[in-house]
Amino acid sequence: MVIPKPLCRCRVCEEARRKGVPYERTGPSAFMHDENILIDTPADIACQLNRSRIERIDHLMLTHLDPDHVEGLRVVEQITLDFRTWRAYPDKQIRLVLPEQLDDRLSSICSVYGPLIDFFEEQGFVKRAPYRERTQIGKVDVTAIPVDRGSQVSFVYVFEKEDRKIVYALCDIKPFPEEREEVQGADLLVIQPGIFEDGLKHGFHYGKDHISRKTLYTFEETMALAGRIQASQVLFSHIEEYWNRSHDDYAALEEKLDNVCFAHDGMQVSI
Ligand SMILES: [Zn+2]
Ligand SMILES: [Zn+2]
Repeated sequence: MVIPKPLCRCRVCEEARRKGVPYERTGPSAFMHDENILIDTPADIACQLNRSRIERIDHLMLTHLDPDHVEGLRVVEQITLDFRTWRAYPDKQIRLVLPEQLDDRLSSICSVYGPLIDFFEEQGFVKRAPYRERTQIGKVDVTAIPVDRGSQVSFVYVFEKEDRKIVYALCDIKPFPEEREEVQGADLLVIQPGIFEDGLKHGFHYGKDHISRKTLYTFEETMALAGRIQASQVLFSHIEEYWNRSHDDYAALEEKLDNVCFAHDGMQVSI
């Protein structure tokens, strides 16, 4: 959910409206400069790319196909289309690099004309490059680890280059595949903080069997998980409005924790 949440008058949203970034937050996405890899396309991706002055996208990855990560998928058309020919500029074509399980389900994303992916491929906006478990993008090794969530498969990605490792575990990551060797000892773990149970609006409390506990860890559980897999640094992203915390609240929390940081829009990180 974006911050400010449309029409919401809460403290966090009003402050974001007044101050803008980093108080304001748009959808979950990331860009890896090494090989021009975009990860996820939330509804606001076109504006995010412009704001961050991204100049080129060679590869697109998706963590999963939930709407908050694919609503902006049409950005591939916005980037590549030559409207005079209705075809892509050939040098702008984007490689869509998905694990087979996601690639197989792409055609479930439709417009009134049918599967979006059929049109995107026919016009040359994207070229699909499905893979099984591991692939290499330029100098970056990618391992895709599925999170067992029944029919809605989601992926944790491990990026390795030279002796550096990033584990990217953004959404729907429970049960986290923490037994996998690849997720251990990351230089950087990018992960959703999970549910904050205190300080919520209207005095809300999560019951023991609340449905969100099926998909989300609590913040304390996520911190414990990061410790168990020995991540050197933790960057929390996919930060939600309903946690009722502002940029300053997260900054105060960072002070109390070691090697932990909360992401904000446009943030740049070097490993
Ligand atoms: Zn609000
Ligand atoms: Zn999500």
